[in-house]
Amino acid sequence: MESAGARPPSARVTIKRMPERAVYERAAIDAILDEGLICHLGFVTEGQPWVIPTIYARDGGRLLIHGSAAGRTLRAVQGGIPVCVTVTLLDGLVLARSAYHHSMNYRSVVIVGTATEIVEREAKLAAMRSLVEHVVPGRWNDVRGPSEQELRATMVLSIPTAEASAKVRVGPPGDAEEDYALETWAGVIPLTLEAHPPMADPRLPAGIAPPNYARFYRRVPAGNGKQAGR
Ligand SMILES: Cc1cc2nc3c(=O)[nH]c(=O)nc-3n(C[C@H](O)[C@H](O)[C@H](O)COP(=O)(O)OP(=O)(O)OC[C@H]3O[C@@H](n4cnc5c(N)ncnc54)[C@H](O)[C@@H]3O)c2cc1C
Repeated sequence: MESAGARPPSARVTIKRMPERAVYERAAIDAILDEGLICHLGFVTEGQPWVIPTIYARDGGRLLIHGSAAGRTLRAVQGGIPVCVTVTLLDGLVLARSAYHHSMNYRSVVIVGTATEIVEREAKLAAMRSLVEHVVPGRWNDVRGPSEQELRATMVLSIPTAEASAKVRVGPPGDAEEDYALETWAGVIPLTLEAHPPMADPRLPAGIAPPNYARFYRRVPAGNGKQAGR
């Protein structure tokens, strides 16, 4: 990923610290959003700042989040207050020769915007489908859909992704030149998110095999724009 060619969409999402790590290309930002599983939603309510981890899905140019209609977070955010959403993919631990230059390899996105509630029934159902399919592609068609009561109990919010920045660190440590002579091991411990074989619910009737999207679940590397699971 590189930032050549794309411009930041606004001053407040322009990366100033380590600008060489900035990425503003829409496709690159969307690829990070598509690979991630959780976001952190930041907002201020009644003078108190909060950062809440939650599931999300990208649907075109918007991020969808959902939760209990009775919950504090979504009710606070639904009122049209400014929010900030971050998504972080951790790719490695960077072990430098000095404590100071230790780092991480990562791909992260910061989005700022305003959330609006999706109230129309079909749009809300489609958003719920997007959320399920973002996490486990192929799952929605296999499950019972939401009942009217479940739909009422769930609030779905939409946040535009237009005002966003990505920051990407790759590669080995960047030590101070004089430290390269030290005999301390230095390098990168790569990290990936790995799915293990699915474990059947103890209450599952005998003879129901796990679907392929569960058996072969994985998140695809950024760049493909979609995650796989089939
Ligand atoms: C896994 C991980 C670990 C990190 N560890 C550290 C750490 O230990 N110490 C540290 O100082 N920083 C760390 N960072 C970087 C950190 O996220 C900030 O980029 C950095 O602290 C500079 O913040 P700033 O507000 O001063 O940057 P500025 O460049 O002034 O921020 C301006 C704008 O750039 C955008 N922006 C800033 N950071 C990011 C980002 N990470 N992703 C996307 N857009 C961004 C936002 O829109 C922000 O408003 C880490 C990042 C990740 C993903």
